Amino acid sequence: MTDLTVLAPATGEVVGTHEVADAAAVEAAVARARETAVWWGGLDHAGRRQVLEQWKAVLARRMPQLADVVHEETGKPHGDALLKVALAVDHLGWAARNAERTLRRRRVGSGLLAANQAASVEYLPLGVIGVIGPWNYPVFTPMGSIGYALAAGNAVVFKPSELTPGCGRWLADSLREVVPDRDLLQVVVGYGETGSALCRAGVDKIAFTGSPQTGRKVMAACAETLTPVLIESGGKDALLVDEDADVDAAADAAAWGAFANAGQTCTGIERVYVHEKVHDAFLAGLTERARKLHAGSDPEAPIGPMTLERQVEVARRHIDDALARGGKAVVGGPEAVGDRFIQPTVLTDVPPDSTAITEETFSPTVTVTKVADMDEAVALANGTRYGLGSAVFSATRGPELARRLRSGMTAINAVISFAAVPALPFGGVGESGFGRIHGADGLKEFTYAKAVARQRFRPPMPLTSFTRTEKHEVNLTTLIAVLHGRANQLSGPRGPLRLLPARKRHVMEP
Ligand code: NAD
Repeated sequence: MTDLTVLAPATGEVVGTHEVADAAAVEAAVARARETAVWWGGLDHAGRRQVLEQWKAVLARRMPQLADVVHEETGKPHGDALLKVALAVDHLGWAARNAERTLRRRRVGSGLLAANQAASVEYLPLGVIGVIGPWNYPVFTPMGSIGYALAAGNAVVFKPSELTPGCGRWLADSLREVVPDRDLLQVVVGYGETGSALCRAGVDKIAFTGSPQTGRKVMAACAETLTPVLIESGGKDALLVDEDADVDAAADAAAWGAFANAGQTCTGIERVYVHEKVHDAFLAGLTERARKLHAGSDPEAPIGPMTLERQVEVARRHIDDALARGGKAVVGGPEAVGDRFIQPTVLTDVPPDSTAITEETFSPTVTVTKVADMDEAVALANGTRYGLGSAVFSATRGPELARRLRSGMTAINAVISFAAVPALPFGGVGESGFGRIHGADGLKEFTYAKAVARQRFRPPMPLTSFTRTEKHEVNLTTLIAVLHGRANQLSGPRGPLRLLPARKRHVMEP
């Protein structure tokens, strides 16, 4: 067995050494998890809720301790780490409370043809879930899979990022305090090979969070055994600022969305499209805020180091490309990119084919583009292969614009707010991935739908029996013609329904 040493990104100090799990260790963990899954899946929802609420209480009481580990391993400011741990606790509580309501057996109508059947559907646990996590939010992000998978009745084997194994271990140890004799959440530490071994270890689903490049490898490995996958991948989130927006609030939110966590946020704001009437005021508000921020290792620094060293080169490449193609750095620029710290950078006049617009930068940099109207803003925002989150600042058109943005989530008059609402599903479209964590969708993601039809009495027509006659077939033909033979039946009390344009029909105030 080899060891993995974790270094503090800001100082290079050793903060932990962990044994790397090889394929045999991963398989052994999955085998233990499978035994536990039988016990855990056999409990009723109330029993599981009790355990998870006890764990939630442990986490809630020790939040600062866990935030310390996050701070040490990622370098992010302690307050930021605390905020995300708090959100993870809140999500765990929601998942525990709502699993029964979401997943329990419910009756469904059986229809006229099958009127003799009593039909029901229930969502049952898959068994063992393999969770592969990133380093940028090493507690909040994987807990979106772990907490919901456990609440849905599964055991979990978690492969944290090689940069943040201590966070994973801390989580598993804290749950073991509540259920000492059960392998409900196990951690396997390691690099890509350990993740790859988890994909091949016979788990019932892989929940992966990370880059699209690794997502492809995970899917390829899972394809070998038809293991289903959930992919939470990168983003290139856009913020739209309309002419009637609260410009000051938009600038404030843009600064947070772009620069918090040194821009290492999957749903961070990387592009802003601003109506020409408010562009100058917005840019002034954003640049003023960006200039007041600094990245550093001092306790007052609102922005920490780049956790992943090689990400610094990505930022440098994107900034250089933007400037080489005619863009301007109104704050920061190439000189803002240091060895380990990147100072806030605001780029304007960046052409749409620049990598600063087309690829995930994952750094405290943001592009600001002036648009003639919100139609142009929507078209530009959607002109990406990603589709994770987005944001709209508008006094009157928020819901309408939100709906037109091709992304899994949109915040209106705020940024990233959807992640704090446990009932809302979290996930993307396009290269940002598929499947959902959080909310009812996030619980169902770790289950399979179990459909049951119970015959209550013999059918009036023996259609699925060799006793069926020609007369029965004639009767069936007549019945179907009566039930389904007329297509233009859409009518209301005052005559035929008039179909409104889809946009108008569905938009409602959230
Ligand atoms: P990454 O893709 O480098 O690694 C993610 C995880 O996959 C790590 O645990 C890594 O060890 C593992 N891994 C690497 N190779 C593997 C392989 N061949 N098989 C199985 N597992 C393997 O990503 P990262 O740098 O840790 O995280 C940053 C990325 O994650 C960014 O793109 C970011 O946008 C994305 N992210 C997405 C979300 C979301 O919810 N959509 C949340 C946080 C981060």
